[in-house]
Amino acid sequence: AEGFFSILEADGETEQTGTYRPEHVKGDIKISNVDFTYGNGNKALHDLNMDIRSGSITAFVGLSGAGKTTIVNLLDKFYHPDCGTITLDGVPLEEYDTQYLRDNIGLVLQKNHIFDGTIRENIAYGKPTATEEEIYDAARKAYIYDQIAALPHGFDSKATALSGGQQQRIAIARMFLKNPPIIFLDEPTASLDAIATEQIKASIDAIKQGRTVVIISHSISQIIDSDVIYALREGRVEQSGTPDDLYVKGGIYKDIVDASARSLNIEKLSRTLDPNGDGKLFD
Ligand code: ADP
Repeated sequence: AEGFFSILEADGETEQTGTYRPEHVKGDIKISNVDFTYGNGNKALHDLNMDIRSGSITAFVGLSGAGKTTIVNLLDKFYHPDCGTITLDGVPLEEYDTQYLRDNIGLVLQKNHIFDGTIRENIAYGKPTATEEEIYDAARKAYIYDQIAALPHGFDSKATALSGGQQQRIAIARMFLKNPPIIFLDEPTASLDAIATEQIKASIDAIKQGRTVVIISHSISQIIDSDVIYALREGRVEQSGTPDDLYVKGGIYKDIVDASARSLNIEKLSRTLDPNGDGKLFD
Protein backbone atom coordinates (compact mmCIF):
# COMPACT_ATOMS: atom_id res chain seq x y z
CA ALA A 1 0.00 0.00 0.00
CA GLU A 2 2.87 2.35 0.82
CA GLY A 3 4.40 1.74 -2.61
CA PHE A 4 1.04 2.42 -4.24
CA PHE A 5 0.59 5.76 -2.45
CA SER A 6 4.15 6.84 -3.12
CA ILE A 7 3.45 6.35 -6.83
CA LEU A 8 0.19 8.33 -6.59
CA GLU A 9 1.91 11.11 -4.69
CA ALA A 10 4.94 11.22 -6.94
CA ASP A 11 3.23 13.68 -9.30
CA GLY A 12 5.25 12.56 -12.26
CA GLU A 13 8.55 13.50 -10.67
CA THR A 14 9.76 9.90 -10.95
CA GLU A 15 9.35 9.95 -14.73
CA GLN A 16 11.79 12.09 -16.63
CA THR A 17 10.85 12.31 -20.25
CA GLY A 18 12.31 13.98 -23.30
CA THR A 19 10.49 14.74 -26.52
CA TYR A 20 12.52 12.89 -29.15
CA ARG A 21 10.37 10.52 -31.24
CA PRO A 22 12.22 9.48 -34.39
CA GLU A 23 10.34 7.87 -37.24
CA HIS A 24 12.25 4.60 -36.84
CA VAL A 25 14.34 3.06 -34.11
CA LYS A 26 17.26 1.13 -35.52
CA GLY A 27 18.44 -0.30 -32.22
CA ASP A 28 22.13 0.60 -31.82
CA ILE A 29 22.77 1.00 -28.10
CA LYS A 30 25.96 2.42 -26.66
CA ILE A 31 26.69 2.53 -22.94
CA SER A 32 29.70 4.68 -22.00
CA ASN A 33 31.32 4.97 -18.56
CA VAL A 34 28.07 4.39 -16.69
CA ASP A 35 27.93 4.13 -12.89
CA PHE A 36 24.68 3.42 -11.13
CA THR A 37 23.71 3.44 -7.45
CA TYR A 38 20.30 2.39 -6.10
CA GLY A 39 18.47 4.74 -3.71
CA ASN A 40 19.65 2.72 -0.69
CA GLY A 41 23.29 3.43 -1.56
CA ASN A 42 23.89 0.05 -3.20
CA LYS A 43 26.30 0.68 -6.08
CA ALA A 44 25.25 -1.82 -8.75
CA LEU A 45 27.27 -0.74 -11.83
CA HIS A 46 30.82 0.53 -12.15
CA ASP A 47 32.22 2.21 -15.25
CA LEU A 48 30.09 0.16 -17.62
CA ASN A 49 30.88 0.21 -21.35
CA MET A 50 28.91 -1.74 -23.94
CA ASP A 51 28.25 -1.63 -27.63
CA ILE A 52 25.00 -3.39 -28.52
CA ARG A 53 24.59 -3.45 -32.27
CA SER A 54 21.34 -3.23 -34.15
CA GLY A 55 20.05 -6.61 -35.28
CA SER A 56 22.45 -8.57 -33.07
CA ILE A 57 21.89 -10.85 -30.10
CA THR A 58 23.76 -9.86 -26.97
CA ALA A 59 23.81 -12.05 -23.87
CA PHE A 60 24.57 -10.91 -20.33
CA VAL A 61 25.96 -13.65 -18.12
CA GLY A 62 27.18 -13.62 -14.56
CA LEU A 63 26.20 -14.71 -11.09
CA SER A 64 23.02 -13.45 -9.56
CA GLY A 65 23.56 -9.89 -8.28
CA ALA A 66 26.14 -9.07 -10.99
CA GLY A 67 24.00 -6.22 -12.35
CA LYS A 68 22.36 -7.77 -15.43
CA THR A 69 18.78 -6.74 -14.67
CA THR A 70 19.96 -3.32 -13.52
CA ILE A 71 21.36 -2.66 -17.02
CA VAL A 72 18.01 -3.58 -18.61
CA ASN A 73 16.29 -1.25 -16.11
CA LEU A 74 18.55 1.61 -17.19
CA LEU A 75 17.93 0.87 -20.88
CA ASP A 76 14.18 1.07 -20.23
CA LYS A 77 14.67 4.36 -18.35
CA PHE A 78 13.22 2.89 -15.17
CA TYR A 79 16.35 4.32 -13.51
CA HIS A 80 18.95 6.87 -14.58
CA PRO A 81 22.75 6.51 -14.41
CA ASP A 82 24.78 8.44 -11.79
CA CYS A 83 27.20 9.39 -14.54
CA GLY A 84 28.14 8.38 -18.08
CA THR A 85 25.88 8.20 -21.13
CA ILE A 86 23.57 5.74 -22.81
CA THR A 87 22.63 6.44 -26.41
CA LEU A 88 20.14 4.77 -28.72
CA ASP A 89 20.94 5.33 -32.41
CA GLY A 90 23.38 8.04 -31.31
CA VAL A 91 20.87 10.07 -29.28
CA PRO A 92 21.08 10.15 -25.45
CA LEU A 93 18.30 8.12 -23.85
CA GLU A 94 17.11 11.04 -21.70
CA GLU A 95 16.20 12.97 -24.87
CA TYR A 96 13.72 10.25 -25.89
CA ASP A 97 10.05 10.50 -25.05
CA THR A 98 9.90 7.76 -22.39
CA GLN A 99 6.58 6.32 -23.56
CA TYR A 100 7.80 6.24 -27.15
CA LEU A 101 11.00 4.49 -26.05
CA ARG A 102 9.05 1.82 -24.16
CA ASP A 103 6.72 1.34 -27.13
CA ASN A 104 9.81 0.36 -29.08
CA ILE A 105 11.07 -2.10 -26.50
CA GLY A 106 9.59 -5.52 -25.81
CA LEU A 107 10.19 -7.16 -22.44
CA VAL A 108 9.88 -10.89 -21.85
CA LEU A 109 10.49 -11.66 -18.20
CA GLN A 110 10.82 -14.77 -16.08
CA LYS A 111 7.14 -14.54 -15.23
CA ASN A 112 4.98 -12.47 -17.51
CA HIS A 113 1.87 -10.64 -16.68
CA ILE A 114 -1.05 -12.80 -17.72
CA PHE A 115 -4.26 -11.17 -16.56
CA ASP A 116 -7.59 -12.71 -15.74
CA GLY A 117 -9.16 -12.71 -19.19
CA THR A 118 -9.28 -14.78 -22.35
CA ILE A 119 -6.25 -15.85 -24.34
CA ARG A 120 -7.45 -13.58 -27.14
CA GLU A 121 -7.54 -10.55 -24.79
CA ASN A 122 -4.15 -11.40 -23.34
CA ILE A 123 -2.49 -11.55 -26.75
CA ALA A 124 -4.31 -8.44 -28.01
CA TYR A 125 -2.85 -6.50 -25.07
CA GLY A 126 0.27 -6.14 -27.25
CA LYS A 127 -1.80 -4.09 -29.72
CA PRO A 128 -5.34 -3.26 -28.63
CA THR A 129 -6.43 -2.49 -32.22
CA ALA A 130 -5.31 -5.90 -33.52
CA THR A 131 -7.64 -7.78 -35.85
CA GLU A 132 -8.64 -11.39 -35.30
CA GLU A 133 -6.28 -12.52 -38.05
CA GLU A 134 -3.36 -10.57 -36.53
CA ILE A 135 -3.95 -12.29 -33.17
CA TYR A 136 -3.96 -15.74 -34.81
CA ASP A 137 -0.88 -14.88 -36.80
CA ALA A 138 0.98 -13.78 -33.64
CA ALA A 139 -0.03 -17.05 -31.95
CA ARG A 140 1.26 -19.03 -34.95
CA LYS A 141 4.58 -17.19 -34.89
CA ALA A 142 4.94 -17.94 -31.17
CA TYR A 143 4.22 -21.65 -31.89
CA ILE A 144 1.19 -21.71 -29.62
CA TYR A 145 -1.68 -21.53 -32.16
CA ASP A 146 -2.31 -25.29 -32.46
CA GLN A 147 -2.40 -25.79 -28.70
CA ILE A 148 -4.88 -22.94 -28.26
CA ALA A 149 -7.04 -24.06 -31.17
CA ALA A 150 -7.28 -27.54 -29.61
CA LEU A 151 -8.77 -26.19 -26.35
CA PRO A 152 -12.56 -26.61 -25.97
CA HIS A 153 -13.05 -22.82 -26.02
CA GLY A 154 -10.07 -22.04 -28.26
CA PHE A 155 -8.94 -18.42 -28.04
CA ASP A 156 -11.81 -17.69 -25.65
CA SER A 157 -10.34 -19.96 -22.96
CA LYS A 158 -9.05 -18.40 -19.76
CA ALA A 159 -5.36 -17.51 -20.10
CA THR A 160 -4.64 -18.08 -16.40
CA ALA A 161 -5.50 -21.78 -16.83
CA LEU A 162 -2.54 -22.29 -19.19
CA SER A 163 0.75 -23.84 -18.05
CA GLY A 164 3.80 -21.68 -17.26
CA GLY A 165 5.41 -22.49 -20.61
CA GLN A 166 2.19 -21.73 -22.51
CA GLN A 167 1.77 -18.42 -20.67
CA GLN A 168 5.32 -17.55 -21.65
CA ARG A 169 4.42 -18.16 -25.30
CA ILE A 170 1.30 -15.96 -24.90
CA ALA A 171 3.69 -13.22 -23.74
CA ILE A 172 5.82 -13.84 -26.83
CA ALA A 173 2.75 -13.78 -29.11
CA ARG A 174 1.86 -10.44 -27.52
CA MET A 175 5.36 -9.28 -28.39
CA PHE A 176 4.91 -10.32 -32.05
CA LEU A 177 1.83 -8.09 -32.18
CA LYS A 178 3.66 -5.19 -30.57
CA ASN A 179 6.53 -5.81 -33.01
CA PRO A 180 9.21 -3.71 -31.29
CA PRO A 181 12.69 -3.36 -32.86
CA ILE A 182 14.34 -4.01 -29.47
CA ILE A 183 13.66 -6.98 -27.21
CA PHE A 184 14.95 -7.70 -23.71
CA LEU A 185 14.58 -11.27 -22.50
CA ASP A 186 15.27 -11.54 -18.78
CA GLU A 187 15.57 -15.22 -17.86
CA PRO A 188 12.55 -16.19 -19.98
CA THR A 189 12.84 -19.90 -19.22
CA ALA A 190 14.09 -19.73 -15.63
CA SER A 191 10.96 -21.14 -14.03
CA LEU A 192 10.23 -23.81 -16.64
CA ASP A 193 11.02 -27.49 -16.94
CA ALA A 194 13.09 -28.96 -19.79
CA ILE A 195 10.12 -29.80 -22.03
CA ALA A 196 8.51 -26.37 -21.67
CA THR A 197 11.92 -24.74 -22.21
CA GLU A 198 12.37 -26.59 -25.47
CA GLN A 199 8.85 -25.65 -26.56
CA ILE A 200 9.42 -21.97 -26.00
CA LYS A 201 12.91 -22.01 -27.52
CA ALA A 202 11.37 -22.09 -30.99
CA SER A 203 9.20 -19.06 -30.25
CA ILE A 204 12.13 -17.18 -28.69
CA ASP A 205 14.27 -17.99 -31.73
CA ALA A 206 11.49 -16.66 -33.98
CA ILE A 207 11.00 -13.39 -32.08
CA LYS A 208 14.75 -12.72 -32.16
CA GLN A 209 14.87 -12.49 -35.97
CA GLY A 210 15.78 -9.05 -37.29
CA ARG A 211 15.71 -7.27 -33.93
CA THR A 212 18.20 -5.97 -31.41
CA VAL A 213 18.03 -8.57 -28.65
CA VAL A 214 19.49 -8.58 -25.17
CA ILE A 215 19.12 -11.85 -23.33
CA ILE A 216 19.84 -12.54 -19.70
CA SER A 217 19.93 -16.25 -19.13
CA HIS A 218 21.59 -19.00 -17.18
CA SER A 219 20.53 -21.44 -19.86
CA ILE A 220 23.48 -22.35 -22.00
CA SER A 221 21.25 -23.26 -24.94
CA GLN A 222 20.20 -19.61 -25.20
CA ILE A 223 23.54 -17.95 -24.43
CA ILE A 224 25.42 -20.04 -26.96
CA ASP A 225 23.29 -18.63 -29.82
CA SER A 226 24.29 -15.03 -29.09
CA ASP A 227 26.60 -12.91 -31.25
CA VAL A 228 28.29 -11.18 -28.30
CA ILE A 229 28.48 -12.08 -24.64
CA TYR A 230 29.17 -9.68 -21.79
CA ALA A 231 30.32 -11.52 -18.69
CA LEU A 232 29.61 -9.42 -15.60
CA ARG A 233 30.97 -9.66 -12.10
CA GLU A 234 29.93 -7.35 -9.27
CA GLY A 235 28.69 -4.60 -11.57
CA ARG A 236 31.66 -4.61 -13.92
CA VAL A 237 32.20 -6.11 -17.35
CA GLU A 238 34.83 -8.78 -16.85
CA GLN A 239 34.95 -10.08 -20.41
CA SER A 240 33.20 -9.59 -23.71
CA GLY A 241 33.39 -11.36 -27.05
CA THR A 242 31.84 -14.13 -29.12
CA PRO A 243 30.86 -17.33 -27.30
CA ASP A 244 33.69 -19.28 -28.94
CA ASP A 245 36.32 -16.64 -28.13
CA LEU A 246 35.27 -16.39 -24.51
CA TYR A 247 35.27 -20.15 -24.09
CA VAL A 248 38.82 -20.41 -25.35
CA LYS A 249 39.96 -17.49 -23.16
CA GLY A 250 38.49 -19.01 -20.00
CA GLY A 251 36.60 -17.12 -17.31
CA ILE A 252 32.99 -16.78 -16.19
CA TYR A 253 31.52 -17.94 -19.51
CA LYS A 254 33.73 -21.03 -19.68
CA ASP A 255 32.84 -21.80 -16.06
CA ILE A 256 29.13 -21.62 -16.93
CA VAL A 257 29.49 -23.82 -20.04
CA ASP A 258 31.57 -26.40 -18.18
CA ALA A 259 29.24 -26.43 -15.19
CA SER A 260 26.20 -26.84 -17.51
CA ALA A 261 27.90 -29.70 -19.33
CA ARG A 262 28.78 -31.41 -16.04
CA SER A 263 25.31 -30.91 -14.60
CA LEU A 264 23.83 -32.44 -17.75
CA ASN A 265 26.24 -35.36 -17.32
CA ILE A 266 27.15 -34.69 -20.92
CA GLU A 267 29.52 -37.62 -21.45
CA LYS A 268 26.89 -40.14 -20.50
CA LEU A 269 24.19 -38.15 -22.29
CA SER A 270 26.16 -38.16 -25.53
CA ARG A 271 26.53 -41.96 -25.30
CA THR A 272 22.77 -42.25 -24.78
CA LEU A 273 22.05 -39.97 -27.74
CA ASP A 274 24.62 -41.70 -29.93
CA PRO A 275 24.29 -45.42 -29.11
CA ASN A 276 26.08 -46.50 -32.31
CA GLY A 277 29.01 -44.17 -31.70
CA ASP A 278 28.78 -42.81 -35.24
CA GLY A 279 28.51 -39.14 -34.17
CA LYS A 280 24.87 -38.93 -35.28
CA LEU A 281 22.75 -37.53 -32.45
CA PHE A 282 18.98 -38.08 -32.33
CA ASP A 283 17.03 -40.02 -34.96
P1 ADP B 1 21.42 -9.67 -11.64
O1 ADP B 1 20.33 -9.30 -12.59
O2 ADP B 1 22.74 -9.86 -12.31
O3 ADP B 1 21.06 -10.83 -10.74
P2 ADP B 1 20.73 -7.16 -10.35
O4 ADP B 1 20.90 -6.17 -11.42
O5 ADP B 1 19.37 -7.59 -10.00
O6 ADP B 1 21.67 -8.42 -10.65
O7 ADP B 1 21.40 -6.59 -9.02
C1 ADP B 1 22.67 -5.94 -8.99
C2 ADP B 1 22.91 -5.40 -7.58
O8 ADP B 1 21.96 -4.38 -7.29
C3 ADP B 1 22.78 -6.45 -6.49
O9 ADP B 1 23.74 -6.15 -5.48
C4 ADP B 1 21.38 -6.22 -5.98
O10 ADP B 1 21.28 -6.59 -4.62
C5 ADP B 1 21.22 -4.73 -6.14
N1 ADP B 1 19.81 -4.32 -6.37
C6 ADP B 1 18.98 -4.79 -7.34
N2 ADP B 1 17.78 -4.17 -7.30
C7 ADP B 1 17.85 -3.30 -6.26
C8 ADP B 1 16.93 -2.34 -5.68
N3 ADP B 1 15.70 -2.17 -6.18
N4 ADP B 1 17.37 -1.62 -4.63
C9 ADP B 1 18.62 -1.77 -4.14
N5 ADP B 1 19.53 -2.62 -4.62
C10 ADP B 1 19.16 -3.39 -5.66
